[in-house]
Amino acid sequence: MTTRRTFLQTSLLGAGALALPKAFSSAAGKSSRAKVVSTWDFGVGANGAAWKVLAAGGAALDAVEAGARWAEADLCNPTVGHCGNPDRDGVLTLDASIMAGDGRCGSVAALEDIDHPISVARAVMEKSPHVMLVGAGAQQFAVQQGFAKKKLITPEAAQRWREWLKTAEYKPQINAERAKLPGNKDNHDTLGMLALDASGNLAGACTTSGMAWKLHGRVGDSPIIGAGLYVDNDVGAATASGQGEEMIRNAASHLVVELMRQGRSPAQACREAIDRVVHKRPEASKTLQVCFLAMNKDGEVGAFALHKGFVYAVCDAAKQDALLDSQSVYTTEQT
Ligand code: ASP
Repeated sequence: MTTRRTFLQTSLLGAGALALPKAFSSAAGKSSRAKVVSTWDFGVGANGAAWKVLAAGGAALDAVEAGARWAEADLCNPTVGHCGNPDRDGVLTLDASIMAGDGRCGSVAALEDIDHPISVARAVMEKSPHVMLVGAGAQQFAVQQGFAKKKLITPEAAQRWREWLKTAEYKPQINAERAKLPGNKDNHDTLGMLALDASGNLAGACTTSGMAWKLHGRVGDSPIIGAGLYVDNDVGAATASGQGEEMIRNAASHLVVELMRQGRSPAQACREAIDRVVHKRPEASKTLQVCFLAMNKDGEVGAFALHKGFVYAVCDAAKQDALLDSQSVYTTEQT
């Protein structure tokens, strides 16, 4: 997996293109306005999976599900999917949401022992009368829908939890662990993905194992529509990563979309939402990471973070593996 240290240093809206994979370039004609963007360095791989759908003329909703499934299956990722770090009781609980630009949405929270929570979230959206299912009920629904129930926690994650138990200190880090250790061992980071398809439809997906060492039953922003993800075909889409409690307090992804509706660019909207987070809790903001990523209906992309270190991946017909460095309020990397 790509590490944060390998990202390209580029301007906020500029794109540092790497070589264009042949498999992607052949289909580019079908998807001239299609685009997919994702949070963090593993967003490059997730975008690649989503791009296969978009480049073939597929729907944004199918693309974001494919991209999120890729991230959930990434064996090296302790913050998303079945390799995620558990809570403080040693239980792995997964959160995910999916939303289409016409307002359809579904999510699962605190889901245990079911792989691919993003597909369960889509099933909630398409096969239940509800938007959100949690815990045992989400698991029951998933099994009824044909998802296999299996023990998900990996030996590596269980070992990380045993190490953590030695201090049992719950102290969310800004980017420190992830930056410091090989193999991406941070105690947070979510895949948030936004896609625009060739027909002009938007969709988004968010998937995570949440904050490592959280209280059992804690739900972050990622499965909460409007907090970790919001999509509106009339305006644009936004997603978030970082300390989920701050996104929930501010209905933050919805806020970003509403700011775009009022005329802000995606970058301006993300910046203003970050300012709101700081305004609400100036002291806490010094020690927490909050990151927003947005795309408007024209495919313009922007991001902003509280602290330095947030990177996001952008993929379109011109270039598939750009990784950009977000601007931030605090410009010195803190630990
Ligand atoms: N937002 C996620 C949560 O609070 C974690 C993260 O994105 O880092 O669960």
